[in-house]
Amino acid sequence: MQRFLILLLLLLVPAIACADILYLKDGRKLEGKILSQTATEVKIKVQFGRSRAEMTIARKDIEKIELGALPDEEFRKRLDTLDPADLAAHQALIEWCKQKKLLDQAKLIQSRLPVIEIAARKKLNPETWCRPCEALGKTSCSACEGKGALEKPCQRCGGGGGLSCRTCVLKEDGLLDCRRCGGAGTYERFDPNKGRKVKTRCGDCSGKGKIKCPTCNGKRKAPCKDCKGKGGVPIPCEECLGKKNVTCKHCEGSGISTDAEGKKPKVPPEGEKPKPRKKPVIEGDPFG
Ligand SMILES: [Zn+2]
Ligand SMILES: [Zn+2]
Ligand SMILES: [Zn+2]
Ligand SMILES: [Zn+2]
Ligand SMILES: [Zn+2]
Repeated sequence: MQRFLILLLLLLVPAIACADILYLKDGRKLEGKILSQTATEVKIKVQFGRSRAEMTIARKDIEKIELGALPDEEFRKRLDTLDPADLAAHQALIEWCKQKKLLDQAKLIQSRLPVIEIAARKKLNPETWCRPCEALGKTSCSACEGKGALEKPCQRCGGGGGLSCRTCVLKEDGLLDCRRCGGAGTYERFDPNKGRKVKTRCGDCSGKGKIKCPTCNGKRKAPCKDCKGKGGVPIPCEECLGKKNVTCKHCEGSGISTDAEGKKPKVPPEGEKPKPRKKPVIEGDPFG
């Protein structure tokens, strides 16, 4: 039972991330995890699709042994050797990352692909890549200056962003009569010591009889509700449909201008997914 558990645990270990490679004298290559080495033989665990197998190889058949690096180290090494304009190689590296479960690294390259695609386009078409759009195939929309929207002045406030405060609109200086003293600045209060009413200075308006409009805090304007005080409402640009850029007219979006001789522009190869490996023998590995 215990043996079975150990075996199960071994099977649950995630796919070999850092592979050791055995180069055999007959030209084959075995990738996997070296389990043990003796003077005469090397035991290696290799993966066949989803299943694994242990193989014992005689030393006399081995040309060279390469011990695997840590996966991230290996990734950096592979990334460093890539031509920044080689789209296919980058796509192959993404696949490699996925196989090695290096998902963050795969995402990293994925995010760089648009830039690499442009670089590849320029490299493949050194003379004909479209200059006006920098081989992007798109240019910034001139109608909206790349903002994707046009500002339309708010009809309600005429673009000012503010409306007159309704509370104080009819009052000069935006001052309202003090409610407590009715605008007099003083009011009468009964004084029990003197036994009669006495005039008292109004504390609410400091004796002035007027107070600042509490609605607008004396600013006389209230932010326009239609445009939230901004003065304009954005309307999507019709020219670019809000996308901020438009198809380049010079190259019709291909990023490559067709030259006078009518040569067909070279397009970088679409990233074909490498075929799933069935055998541990690798022949078409671009990083071989
Ligand atoms: Zn636009
Ligand atoms: Zn407005
Ligand atoms: Zn007001
Ligand atoms: Zn008052
Ligand atoms: Zn262009």
